[in-house]
Amino acid sequence: MSVPLRQSLTVGAYLARQRLARRERFPLLVELEPLYQCNLACAGCGKIQHPEHVLRRRMPVEVAVEAIEESGAPMVSIAGGEPLIHPEIDAIAAELVRRRRYVYLCTNAIMMERKLDLFEPSPRFAWAVHLDGLRERHDASVGRDGVFDKAVAAIRAAKDRGFRVTTNTTFFTHDSPQTVRRVLDFINDELEVDEMMISPAYAYERAPDQDHFLGVRETHELFRAAFADGRRRRWRLNHTPLFLDFLEGKVDFQCTAWGIPSYSVFGWQRPCYLMADGYAKTYRELVETTDWDAYGRGRDPRCDNCMAHCGYEPTAVLATTHSVRQSLRALVSG
Ligand code: SF4
Ligand code: SF4
Repeated sequence: MSVPLRQSLTVGAYLARQRLARRERFPLLVELEPLYQCNLACAGCGKIQHPEHVLRRRMPVEVAVEAIEESGAPMVSIAGGEPLIHPEIDAIAAELVRRRRYVYLCTNAIMMERKLDLFEPSPRFAWAVHLDGLRERHDASVGRDGVFDKAVAAIRAAKDRGFRVTTNTTFFTHDSPQTVRRVLDFINDELEVDEMMISPAYAYERAPDQDHFLGVRETHELFRAAFADGRRRRWRLNHTPLFLDFLEGKVDFQCTAWGIPSYSVFGWQRPCYLMADGYAKTYRELVETTDWDAYGRGRDPRCDNCMAHCGYEPTAVLATTHSVRQSLRALVSG
């Protein structure tokens, strides 16, 4: 059985248990941010603008593990900042894997190749390498020459050692259907990574570059054209078919921000990874004290252009599990 299929079945069983327990809100995946410091300063980043004393903070291993245990989420995406700067990131990842979580370690890959020895290949552990385009485009996006080549070398080295490797690509207004196709063809066919994640950039208020975030109509047009001619089925995209339909504008959803919550050095961030309207101490407190109906497109102007997977992939997953046809579609495309 392939790793994605095994992972989908684990998540399916978890969802069934939530339904049996009549739990109304529960996390599918936690965005764990054990530090905010980074070794890059990307123009579209909304994470590295914290003051120096915050950037220096590191989440202890036991705090990270306890938060994930309390939430019960079956999947964890470790982000930041740059997680590989954290001196105990290998211990956090290993402990979560030992506790049977599916762990994605999101990295800009600058330190990845030299830190590979700290990690063990496992079906439950995947690298998620940030790759916003081919060489020129990616290096411009992260503001430093040579990062694309380093990321590609790290991906190849990790694959050679038997690691599961995925990528994460964010698209902005300077992308076209052709640039989307070129980068996804390259990652899919030449790098042959296990799976790819894609997202239209979220318009962080604090990001230095405010001119290149996609609106909803532009996102629909970009992905509809990029996915045409059956390409979407050929690429190994780590998304439900319904979420990809949503990017293309074939279906519309409301956001389900409690499904992919974020836990950082400040606690559980309200309402999601992208916006910070305060923090809660536990996932339970987050769920019970947040006015979820106040968020989403048409409800909060900060959400108006958001089509990010942390809000809408959970909606797509829940819609998939409520429909036999969509479940079969997801299994066939997985
Ligand atoms: S690599 Fe990620 S965390 Fe670091 S500056 Fe770029 S977007 Fe921000
Ligand atoms: S739409 Fe949802 S995921 Fe997007 S910013 Fe608003 S609350 Fe967060």
